[in-house]
Amino acid sequence: MFFDTRPISSDTLVPDDPALGLIAMSGPNDPAPSIRIAQGRIVELDGVAEANFDLIDEFIARRGLDLDVADEAMATADLDYALMLVDPGVPRRDCVRLAGGMSPAKLAHVLALMTPVELMSAMTKMRVRRTPSIQAHVTNRVDHPLLIAADAASAVALGFRELETTVPVLRDAPSNALALLVGSQVAGAGALTQCSVEERTELELGLRGLTTYAETVSVYGTEQVFVDGDDTPWSKAFLAACYASRGLKMRFTSGSGAECLMGAAEGRSMLYLESRCVALSRAAGAQGVQNGGIDGVSVTASVQDGMREVLAENLCVMLRDLESCAGNDTLMSFSDIRRTSHTLPLLLAGADFLFSGFGSIPAYDNAFGPSNFNAEDLDDYLVLQRDWGFEGGLRSRSDEDLLPLRRRAAEACRAVYDELGLAAFSDEDVEAVVVAHGSLDLPPLDPGLVPAAGDAIMARGITGLHVVDALAQRGFTIESERVLAMLRARLDGDHLQTAAIYDTEMRVLSNLTDPNDYSGPGSGYRISADRRDQIGRVRQERTHADLVAEQGPAAGCLRVANGRPARERPRPDEVVVGLSPAFAVTVWQTLGGCTVAEALRQVLAGLEEEGVASRVVRVRRSIDVGNIGWTAARLSGSGVGIGLQGKGTALIHRADLPVLANLELYSNAALVGPPLYRALGRNAARHARGATPEPVLLPESAEPFGPRYHARVVALVAEERRAVEPLDPIEVELTWP
Ligand code: CA
Repeated sequence: MFFDTRPISSDTLVPDDPALGLIAMSGPNDPAPSIRIAQGRIVELDGVAEANFDLIDEFIARRGLDLDVADEAMATADLDYALMLVDPGVPRRDCVRLAGGMSPAKLAHVLALMTPVELMSAMTKMRVRRTPSIQAHVTNRVDHPLLIAADAASAVALGFRELETTVPVLRDAPSNALALLVGSQVAGAGALTQCSVEERTELELGLRGLTTYAETVSVYGTEQVFVDGDDTPWSKAFLAACYASRGLKMRFTSGSGAECLMGAAEGRSMLYLESRCVALSRAAGAQGVQNGGIDGVSVTASVQDGMREVLAENLCVMLRDLESCAGNDTLMSFSDIRRTSHTLPLLLAGADFLFSGFGSIPAYDNAFGPSNFNAEDLDDYLVLQRDWGFEGGLRSRSDEDLLPLRRRAAEACRAVYDELGLAAFSDEDVEAVVVAHGSLDLPPLDPGLVPAAGDAIMARGITGLHVVDALAQRGFTIESERVLAMLRARLDGDHLQTAAIYDTEMRVLSNLTDPNDYSGPGSGYRISADRRDQIGRVRQERTHADLVAEQGPAAGCLRVANGRPARERPRPDEVVVGLSPAFAVTVWQTLGGCTVAEALRQVLAGLEEEGVASRVVRVRRSIDVGNIGWTAARLSGSGVGIGLQGKGTALIHRADLPVLANLELYSNAALVGPPLYRALGRNAARHARGATPEPVLLPESAEPFGPRYHARVVALVAEERRAVEPLDPIEVELTWP
């Protein structure tokens, strides 16, 4: 069956099954929203009386809701609140204030009412920070420190402001964190780094200053999953406080589908459970939430309305006034169309972080598993950003930009490992890392090296300050100062404000300093003229001069000299070939890739084969191939003429037909090569003799022509237009060099 062979058919989809939690939103077992307050305390939350609260209800009821607005918020009709969210005239703060008093079920009810475009519209207003940003996954299969450092430098140069690494082997974690920290400060200041591992190690790396933020503090929407993980909301809140107390940025991770995967969704919908996670995160004092499916996104994607649910859960974070780090970090489909469709609405709407992990490294090196977009998709992403003009956070970089940075990062990392006595790397290691696409391009790494380095970092109490010192000792002064600045920043803690990132000048952009002030067209984040220019310059861009210069190699392939004014019908057994104004003047090569000399030579050879005389004229008034062919036909003794444009479009015309008609047309010049030009000549001759021509079939092709050729057509047609003169046709003399 043909359709079974399509990539989309490798995706497994399931019908709603509320008992297993396989339902995106509005599940039949979801509670009706409620908050009942007695003596200043919540005694009922979403239909559950205080005596029956589970750990999550208890935590949210005691710490997560604004009791002063709860009555007003819960009394606001779902549709009225949804309308506030999409109305740009209603300030963001009013929406946030009311959300503060809404129960998890209430927010889930409201979000379920909204269409994709309404969700997007609300996100544009409701995200916390005005300036969207983007996070990268920087990992590799073998935890090669120099490669992590070089890839981190590349990622920052491209525009990523948070870099996340992880390990297959826990012992490697300290080494990865250190290499990432060094590499992240080479291309500019202020990029934040984290190492996603088991919570105790992750915290210790943070406390030591080897990472500068944390994200993988996971919370869940049902008590059973919490308990299975040997955790409670209180333990997570304690962990959050540990980070905050040392000046570390920290956000929680949740995302729909996790509870289903652990068989403990309690029959609730994904959006309701996620709404509980987000309320809990707010209650625990997290700065933000990484959600939008995350590791469970393929579960969410398996049910109906799954992608709308993912967008709704991102918006839920924004409504709770937390930084939204909006998923797209897990490849969720075999289909390129479907995975792009998952990500695009968020890109257009904007989030604090558009990706909670764009694989800036090749998919095979992504130790989290492939992201929805990886290095393989980087150019696609940059072109999407250019197409739509959304702020995607990235810019195109050439090898000339990146290679020196990669070298500097690899050298700095090698120097730190050497200075701290962690490992020795050779010049060959550095050279390979500089130009590597991924770990497969590197010489094998001693499998004991990274774990031993990791052990040494832990055992010897190595901290961020040791890294600062090692960099300074080895002459990496700028990097040393930048790493020190990341440590110093913890003392003022400005980046503990919600949705804080650093720009490359170490200025904090946060809810306080860069609040989202969108209030309709013309407001909020706008792309500056400089940024627009940067977004526009992608690798695939060709200027008019570039496209015209492509003609250069074929220049001079044929000399066409003007002769006498074109005679009319001097002999009956001829076909006249009409050339376009720029043919062999400034246009030298057809779209099909043959020289104009070759195309014309084949046409003339085809005529000769059939024993018909030929005459070549230049049509100077028109660039239209129909008009050129018709003009040639009117001059031709047989009444049959050929029109030939420089870009290779050709047709056979007859004098008694209307200008816009023709006998045979090669409209798709890109598909036409020498044998077809010869066939065109033969057929024109047969038309002239009154014989029956053989139909000419163009080769089959399913490729799109426009994307490759149309911009070239514009350039070549402009050349033709420039060559037009208000003069009658003229006979030409051909010299074949
Ligand atoms: Ca992440």
